[in-house]
Amino acid sequence: MKIIMVKLLSIIDPYKMAVKQLRNAVELLGYDKSVFEILSKPQRVLEVNIPVRMDDGSVIVFTGYRVQHNNALGPYKGGVRYHPNVTRNEVIALSMWMTWKCSVTGLPYGGGKGGVIVDPRRLSIRELEELSRGYIRAIAPIIGPEKDIPAPDVYTDPQIMAWFMDEFSKLKGYNVPAVVTAKPEELWGSKGRIYSTGLGVAIIAREAARKIGIDISNARVVVQGYGNVGFFTAKFLHDVGAKIIAVSDSKGGVYDPKGLDPEKVMEFKRKTGSVIKYPGASTITNEEILLLETDILVPAAIEGVITLDNAASIKAKIIVEGANGPTTPEADKILFKKGVKVVPDILANAGGVIVSYFEWVQNLQGHVWSEEEVKERLERHIEHAFHRVWLKAERDSIDLRTAAYLVAVERVVKAMKLRGWI
Ligand code: NAD
Repeated sequence: MKIIMVKLLSIIDPYKMAVKQLRNAVELLGYDKSVFEILSKPQRVLEVNIPVRMDDGSVIVFTGYRVQHNNALGPYKGGVRYHPNVTRNEVIALSMWMTWKCSVTGLPYGGGKGGVIVDPRRLSIRELEELSRGYIRAIAPIIGPEKDIPAPDVYTDPQIMAWFMDEFSKLKGYNVPAVVTAKPEELWGSKGRIYSTGLGVAIIAREAARKIGIDISNARVVVQGYGNVGFFTAKFLHDVGAKIIAVSDSKGGVYDPKGLDPEKVMEFKRKTGSVIKYPGASTITNEEILLLETDILVPAAIEGVITLDNAASIKAKIIVEGANGPTTPEADKILFKKGVKVVPDILANAGGVIVSYFEWVQNLQGHVWSEEEVKERLERHIEHAFHRVWLKAERDSIDLRTAAYLVAVERVVKAMKLRGWI
């Protein structure tokens, strides 16, 4: 799934898209050209070449990047992607989106992102470890708890974060847990990080439903994509009484108007490799699932699934973007006219980066928060961000995506002005 997403990103030139979104926000906010000039370029791009001794004795040199887009609000924050299609421009765009995500959710962070051009599935564990340690050594001069804090992204995981942390700590001569987030719990990782994105999506779905007079405990929910984000979103919404009427994965979906049990569906998927053929439910395609009569639709798989072709046929009242970029700009316009509320990705799926922030705070203070504390704080934090964006959209009669971008860009620009950068 993530491969398809990364391929799509490279086809549509993410940097051009990110610049277009920024231009739109800067124009709507009435800022002058210098603001656009500053924000359309990253503050720093570091390219590194990492030699790795392969198991067969040969040496391969892998190219990687760390991009630091803007740190007006705080240290740069963003994941590291290992993928053969990584490009410099893609990493720049992703770092810019991290600036907006951190800003709209009120985190004291700027945006950054990293990437290495590699297919990690072709490496042995030893080669992967050597590459990860080499990458961190190469970018060490520009990262650190007060400078730039990496995290996982496509094909990087808590084990790789543990190697990052260990290598950086060796360079410093003491443990530096706060240099990276989403570490294993045994190595200062935060409780709740694993389900934080899905929990955030579920909280936002509940709040959006409340805003338009739908009681979440009676709401019907459809989830496209039954991986980390999709499953935990379904689970947390089911826990508060919502009816999960359909879910899908890359092979197709299942539909039961009486409601599915998310845990049982996941158990079935683990055993059989897919949700399709789940007993008692009818099968449905990934195209049909988007058009079901439902209160809430959660695209949690790949990008570009809600388009000019199907937007007019969507019957959901609310769309909460668990995935990054599931709705095209043309579809956005149609949905806005139809009165469908679309909560944008930079806000809806920010639960992960919010709990990453909590991990950093715990590491800096030498504290370990309980799972309950993490959940409560996530709820308060993401609810607050949601209401701020909702209010902006209502006041200005604009869609929630535009409102989120305006809130995000405005906060960064205010910080830059106060710091005397513009
Ligand atoms: P994942 O790999 O765990 O799950 C993805 C799911 O989507 C799988 O069940 C897969 O079978 C399914 N899928 C793939 N192609 C599909 C298709 N064409 N139609 C329907 N389903 C399809 O990934 P994830 O971590 O859950 O991420 C999902 C999305 O959420 C991505 O866009 C990701 O960038 C975004 N996201 C994830 C996080 C996080 O913390 N995991 C945070 C922010 C955003």
